[in-house]
Amino acid sequence: MTAPASDGASPIRVRFAPSPTGDLHVGGVRTALYNWLFARRQGGVFILRVEDTDEARSTEQSTRAILDGMAWLGMHADEGPFFQSDRTELYRAKLAELVASGGAYRCWCSKETLDERRAAFEREKKSFRYERTCRGRTEGPSPDAPFVYRAKLPADGEVVVDDLILGEVVTDNRELDDFVLARGNGSPVYNFCVVVDDIDMRVTHVIRGGDHLANTPKQIHLYDLFGVPRPKFAHLPMIHGMDGKKLSKRHGAASIMQFKELGYLPETMLSFLARLGWSHGDQEVFEVEELQRLFDLKECGKSAGIFDMKKLDWQNGLRIRQMAPVALLDRCKPFLDAKGLDSSAAWLPRAVVLVQERARTLVEAVNGLTMFFDRGTTVKFDEKSATKFLTPANRALVAELADCLAPVEPWLSPDLERAATAFLAERGLDMKQVGQPARVALTGGTVSPPLFDCMEVWGRDVTLARLRGVV
Ligand code: GLU
Repeated sequence: MTAPASDGASPIRVRFAPSPTGDLHVGGVRTALYNWLFARRQGGVFILRVEDTDEARSTEQSTRAILDGMAWLGMHADEGPFFQSDRTELYRAKLAELVASGGAYRCWCSKETLDERRAAFEREKKSFRYERTCRGRTEGPSPDAPFVYRAKLPADGEVVVDDLILGEVVTDNRELDDFVLARGNGSPVYNFCVVVDDIDMRVTHVIRGGDHLANTPKQIHLYDLFGVPRPKFAHLPMIHGMDGKKLSKRHGAASIMQFKELGYLPETMLSFLARLGWSHGDQEVFEVEELQRLFDLKECGKSAGIFDMKKLDWQNGLRIRQMAPVALLDRCKPFLDAKGLDSSAAWLPRAVVLVQERARTLVEAVNGLTMFFDRGTTVKFDEKSATKFLTPANRALVAELADCLAPVEPWLSPDLERAATAFLAERGLDMKQVGQPARVALTGGTVSPPLFDCMEVWGRDVTLARLRGVV
């Protein structure tokens, strides 16, 4: 029962078809990514189709989130975005076509009747299938009796999904029923719109989440009823959290825009998500161009991808460390602006180097930069650090250090360190004895980037005032 989708000569056409009923989840992004990569690798066409027929659940805000998320990740559609809500005429016409060809029929069974039959099935511990009561009918009980449209499916036999990832998935047609295609007013259901659109958009490969596998046999029957070749199907494994359960909000961030706000880089997200269900040898980190060159459905696995937040942090930190400091600063700018911090401050290019080593996210980098925006000459001390390190003797030492640093020219970290080393040698002290007291005097606490680098960023006046301010 399998029919080849494309003859091999026709161009590859794939689509990402999200429903705008919530945030764009990382699972959805992974689906979009695989479609996009597949199209890029094969020289095909990537279509974006927003499935907004469910008026009650679709929101503008969610559509915005989809478009913003895709733009942020740089996954640009070759065609679209299309909106199903703009395409109702097509669905109507296709429904009429199917009715005319005998592939669909009207069903006047009332909700009450169907509920009764369902209850009867349940009493016998059988799962309910519509009993095709109206299949032979041409008229309803009265001219204005409400009705729905149903698909006319074969009563027996089987349907085989020749899935590119899962292999053959066989469904007995007796497990299916003549499902509803549209309400009497012509307003269509999900399975109908998807197939009409996939046919109209000449989609050759349907690559989507495994949660849609149950819809696929029904959709295949619709292709057959329309008399058009089926596309190829690939159903992706689920994404699980570290606890082995389906990834959800419980696991922390789940929407792609949250990851943006948390300071993850789009290229980290793409590489990381690509690996949740696909692998290429044991390579963990990929550049986008590499993914576009290498991605292959044949290398997609059947088992769930595990979303390991620690791995994501590590990969993001790695990319942050590998960036040119000016590029990192550029990425930090929106976060600085959002905090009302002056992203054009002259000392920032120097400071960014200091936070680059440790930051796993742009938010962490910006948090590291924040203290340098305080250019005041007095410091608010962390009480414990002050008690421990700013003893009267240490305070005097810090002030002396300030005097020794004052003439250093240029005011650069290595020069400052050289002067301080000479100062310590003269007194027979080591850096440990003056380093932490000076750090507390300068930064207020005991944790900061290297001391002399911090001094360079703050500049001579601020540094000397703070060191001298402890006496
Ligand atoms: N609109 C469906 C969803 O968001 C996807 C439909 C499909 O890919 O066939 O889950």
